[in-house]
Amino acid sequence: MALVKCPECGKENVSDAAESCPNCGYGVKEHYTKIRLEEIRIEYEKQAEIRRQEFEAEEKCRQEERIKNVPKLEKPQLVAPIVVTVISALITLLGFSMSNVSNLEAEYSLAHGNGDPHFQGGFLIVFGLGILCYAIYLFSRRMATYNLSKNNFEEYQRQVIREQDELKKRLEAERNAKIKQQENMPKCPVCGSKNVSKISTLNRGVSVATLGLASSKIGKQYECKACKHKW
Ligand SMILES: [Zn+2]
Ligand SMILES: [Zn+2]
Repeated sequence: MALVKCPECGKENVSDAAESCPNCGYGVKEHYTKIRLEEIRIEYEKQAEIRRQEFEAEEKCRQEERIKNVPKLEKPQLVAPIVVTVISALITLLGFSMSNVSNLEAEYSLAHGNGDPHFQGGFLIVFGLGILCYAIYLFSRRMATYNLSKNNFEEYQRQVIREQDELKKRLEAERNAKIKQQENMPKCPVCGSKNVSKISTLNRGVSVATLGLASSKIGKQYECKACKHKW
């Protein structure tokens, strides 16, 4: 409590706890209470902002520490790519040799139920080349990463952490989506289990088509995995 000037009429020595000014009736107490509450609010926000900045600085430190701890990348070994190349080359060659059989031999194979070697050969060629392309793609990506690590180690370290963070974010989003989906799932009315699955239209259709009117899935939308009740 303090003696103040009435903010309305200017009368001196009015208590700031007075409900109303003795001179003009102005609500002095309410006026100063509002001011004090506003001061408290501003102070609270200031503290929150300081804490937020401290947290951000710590977070940045932690992030820098993580980046600094990313180890140097070893030079990619050539053994695995060479093995893959040889295997895919062998598969492709086998495919070519099978495609090159004469039509007479092909007819013989077909007649004895061994399938068409032309067709099998074509499949093997595509398969072998597919493996080779994928291996080249993987290896060139590894080489690009290795070169980045060699030429701009700091940028490489940042990239590793960035990728880790993105992966983490993605996994978290997937988990949250799954949790949300489960929360939206209804409970089994018999046993109360949340372990229920939606009976898809296709699934129901197949069941009705095979069992006819005996199908228990007619008109039902959900199936409880715990007690097998459908509703
Ligand atoms: Zn007054
Ligand atoms: Zn149930």
